[in-house]
Amino acid sequence: MPDATPETAVRRLADIRAEMAKAGKIARRSADDIALIAVSKTRNGDEIRPLLDAGQRVFGENRVQEAAAKWPLLRAAYPDIALHLIGQLQSNKADEAVALFDCIHSLDRISLLTALSKAMARAGKRVPCFIQVNIGAEEQKGGCAIGELPDLLEAARAEQVEIIGLMCIPPANVEPAPYFALLAELAARHGLSQLSMGMSDDFATAIMLGATHVRIGTALFGPRKAA
Ligand SMILES: *Cc1c(COP(=O)(O)O)cnc(C)c1O
Repeated sequence: MPDATPETAVRRLADIRAEMAKAGKIARRSADDIALIAVSKTRNGDEIRPLLDAGQRVFGENRVQEAAAKWPLLRAAYPDIALHLIGQLQSNKADEAVALFDCIHSLDRISLLTALSKAMARAGKRVPCFIQVNIGAEEQKGGCAIGELPDLLEAARAEQVEIIGLMCIPPANVEPAPYFALLAELAARHGLSQLSMGMSDDFATAIMLGATHVRIGTALFGPRKAA
């Protein structure tokens, strides 16, 4: 399948970096301030390695189990990678998540905060977190309600879990800009400097509205096979 050749992955990486730089320039922001998280869920080592060889070092996974199966081997070969958890996390996987990941984007409730705080204490490792906000108030979606954000932030301070910013996944099939702008406003209101927002279809918009972390899968690796 031509989509999976290493040359394709490397070219896509260069294209995305160029598009990120362009969006950053329009927003008068330095490309250095915007992290590209290569979302490698469902991709195997053979698909990931070309990106590692091309210099990509930050990767995102949405499942603890899948990441645990895949990354220890790759990490042994590329020790300087950073692994971000971008998917929903169950409290009973907090220990494994803390051991495996360098950053967690999906903290969205007090029970998970408590579990992560305990897991971090046991591991002697502090993992910075984003609070995921259910920015479109969608029933099926993860993320805390906007109204719950102040309490969750206060609880994180009490538990000494470092919250570096906010993350969102806007509703599908509608213009995402108002949701990105709202997330940026919430972050500013709470003195948080990082914004994890923007995926393959909308990362340029997200960057213009302040994204510091864009999470890109399909545009880098090609379409995912149906799960
Ligand atoms: C899969 C996923 C992405 C990447 O989506 P693409 O459209 O493939 O770029 C980003 N964020 C989260 C939370 C995801 O689960």
